[in-house]
Amino acid sequence: MRNKFSFAERSLISKLYLFIYFQEDRFAFLTEWYDPTSALLRRYQLFYYPRDGSVEMFDVKNQRIFLRRTRYDDIHQEDLFIGNRVNVFSRQLHLIDYGDQYTANKLGSKKERTLALIKPDVVTKIGDILELIYSSNLIVTKAKMTKLTWSQAADFYAEHQGKPFFNNLVQFMSSGPVVAMELMGDEAMSIWRGLLGTSDPAVARREAPQSVRAQFGTDGIKNVGHGSDSPAAAARETEFFFPSTIGHGPSNTAVFTDCTCCIIKPHAISEGLAGKILNSISAAGFEISALQMFNMDRVNAEEFYEVYNGIVTEYPNMVTELCSGPCMALEIHGTDAPKTFREFCGPADPEIARHLRPTTLRALYGKDKVKNAVHCTDLPEDGVLEVGGTWTPYIATTPIMC
Ligand code: ADP
Ligand code: MG
Repeated sequence: MRNKFSFAERSLISKLYLFIYFQEDRFAFLTEWYDPTSALLRRYQLFYYPRDGSVEMFDVKNQRIFLRRTRYDDIHQEDLFIGNRVNVFSRQLHLIDYGDQYTANKLGSKKERTLALIKPDVVTKIGDILELIYSSNLIVTKAKMTKLTWSQAADFYAEHQGKPFFNNLVQFMSSGPVVAMELMGDEAMSIWRGLLGTSDPAVARREAPQSVRAQFGTDGIKNVGHGSDSPAAAARETEFFFPSTIGHGPSNTAVFTDCTCCIIKPHAISEGLAGKILNSISAAGFEISALQMFNMDRVNAEEFYEVYNGIVTEYPNMVTELCSGPCMALEIHGTDAPKTFREFCGPADPEIARHLRPTTLRALYGKDKVKNAVHCTDLPEDGVLEVGGTWTPYIATTPIMC
């Protein structure tokens, strides 16, 4: 049989194949890095090549290559979204915009953000709810436990003003702590509302027995959670809890007495372990009296770990880990919490913990001495100090809050 393509055509086709095959994906981002020595924000273009996981940086002001293309295993495609902070060779880069249309189209098209609010009836179930969120391929980019005043709750639910249930709803929403979260992922809004199920838990139990409202809801008012219902609502509601410009939004619930500080480290957050860790903490009988996600920068991480400087050989790597992505700070409340919670965290080295104390947090969720799942306060008298010392400056400094 005669070949239907001429020699010239076949050669063109094979060239096209080769071209497509070797066309490598390259994602570009505009990033900012805070240079602590000069106290300046420096801008770099960051390029990421998914084929071999390499990165390259270009200094925008000086118009020259800053970092030649180099393999870098600590960055993954999932980390590349606007607003996130990634660590490239100890520099924490804030991804502020896409660097080209190709990247915006390829990575930005379906990424959606939504506000998820856990209502006061189920704040103690936060671990279970986070588990559901992570298993639906959503990630938590911001989180804060807060207690709304009556007028804040009325403001949040302004669209329902005048409806017969409005007063009861506002009363309930200001009756105890809530946890506000920004979720991100493909179709985040509809996925989260799907996880919640219909507003009325009785109906949800009939129609979607696996939904959160079916499992944990009581009635129309005590119905577990809220989810934004449109992009405009998501923007307004996220801004309500996590303002991007003025102020810090409703304050967190830290009480600073009879407490200790626990930080779920960035590696555990990015591995989606936060839900499991919170569940273990609650199951062991500890009360989580405050919760907030932060992005620590290098200077703050160095200061936070200062007592280990020169004492623990892992100090530089501990600092790098702590500022490698968002972490979750918890205030653990209870008499003798610094001592009992520290015991519950287990030995700093997860390998040792797995041998000696296999039910501790580090035995269960740690990988090695640096990526050991959680930091907890060392000395009892540091508990209040650390919670105060770690949180107060971050609450006062919006740019480093996520
Ligand atoms: P959703 O939270 O599912 O978006 P809506 O926006 O309609 O639902 O209502 C906001 C909240 O007001 C609901 O989550 C529920 O707590 C409360 N609510 C709505 N309708 C009623 C009702 N008919 N009776 C009691 N509470 C209601
Ligand atoms: Mg609604």
